[in-house]
Formats: sequence, C-alpha cells, structure tokens
Amino acid sequence: IDSISLSQVKDAFHFIANRMVDSKDMLTQADQAIGDGDHGIGMARGFEAVNNMLEAKTLNNVEDVFFNTGTSLLASIGGASGAIFGSFFMGAGKALQGAEILNAAGYQKALEAGLAMVKKRGNASIGDKTMVDALEPAVDAANQYSGSSLEELAGLVAAASHEGMEKTKTFTAKIGKAKTLGERTLGHADPGAISITLIFEALKEYISS
Ligand code: ADP
Ligand code: MG
Ligand code: MG
Repeated sequence: IDSISLSQVKDAFHFIANRMVDSKDMLTQADQAIGDGDHGIGMARGFEAVNNMLEAKTLNNVEDVFFNTGTSLLASIGGASGAIFGSFFMGAGKALQGAEILNAAGYQKALEAGLAMVKKRGNASIGDKTMVDALEPAVDAANQYSGSSLEELAGLVAAASHEGMEKTKTFTAKIGKAKTLGERTLGHADPGAISITLIFEALKEYISS
C-alpha cells in the first residue's frame, strides 16, 4: 500500500483513538510507577475528544485531520502531555500542507515536523526518558527509508518507536514528574514513550489491515 485516502485517514485516526482509550488502565499503571498516575486518564480523555472531533468537524484534507487532532489533545488533556502530544500532531499536520492523501513522503515529512515541534515545545533530548526517546528513533528510521510503500514505512516507524520505548527502561528520568524519582525510574518504561508506540503501532495495523 503506497497511500491511504482522506476517509481512510479519518478511519485510521478513529482506530488510533480507540486504541488509546482502550489503553487507559495500562498507561495509568505505567505513570503510577514513575509519575503521578494520570497519563492514562489524560490520553483517554484526549482521544475521546479526538473521536468526537472526527465526527463533528468538516475535515477537508489530511492536514486538517492531523492538525485538529493536535488541537483536540491540547484542549482536552492539559498538563505536560497535552502540550507535547498536541504539538506533535499540529506540527505534523502543518507539514502536510493540504494533502488529499497520506503517502510515504507525506508521512516522513509529518513525522519530522512533529518531532521538531515537540522538541521546540518541551526541550527534551534523547535519554531524558520522555516520549522523544520513542519518537526520535522513529523519525530517524523514517528518514532512512527511500521506498514508496506507506505500509512498509509505517512498520519501520512502529518498530523503531517500540525499540526506543524499551530503551527508556534503562534511563533515569531527567525531565517532568518522574525526575524527582531519579534512580527509582530504572526498569520502568516512560509512559509517554509507550503512548507514542501505541499510536504508531495502531496506524501500522490500520494500514496493513
Ligand atoms: P504529567 O507529567 O503532567 O502528569 P502525563 O502523565 O500525561 O503528564 O504525561 C507524562 C509524559 O509526558 C511523560 O511520560 C513524557 O513522555 C512526556 N513529557 C513530559 N515532559 C516532556 C517534555 N518536556 N518533552 C517531551 N515529553 C515530555
Ligand atoms: Mg502524569
Ligand atoms: Mg499530571
């Protein structure tokens, strides 16, 4: 599969949103281990808002779907992750510039711009034990891909983010709520990194199905 249509992108975002809502308890437990325990609640609330937005709003192109997903997350989650995950989808959307389909080149551009926005907003680097540890390797993997299969690209992105998320278990937190726990965060994956992996895995599953 080299591309998906606008209506498939909307379906894909419902699929992603449902995956995040279903992962509420798992994400909450992950944040209970090294944070304040609200990550699952925030993400579930945010992606319920995304599901509602997808039904209610007129979305004319793929940029609209990504960008409005970002503003919905920003408005409904609050806290660190609202701004961070909102920035990711808003930055990604802008890069898509009114695209009427999502293809491999578009997904690559969107991912890169999304990461840039996240870093601008949150100032996290690799190794700080944040969602950037799952996102940046995914962007690097995407940039190394020179083929035209959206399906293959989505698989590479999902795998790289999963590997990056697993690596966060070996890091002590340098940023956010987990920072005060220091060494006690060792052995636990970063909740936001788990969320990024879930998002990319869901998109890959949708495209492959
Ligand atoms: P809060 O920390 O406000 O309770 P959440 O629990 O919903 O918010 O989200 C925590 C996640 O947000 C962390 O696991 C981390 O991945 C991500 N995060 C926090 N601060 C930053 C940042 N500055 N840059 C990137 N990601 C961040
Ligand atoms: Mg939290
Ligand atoms: Mg909180």
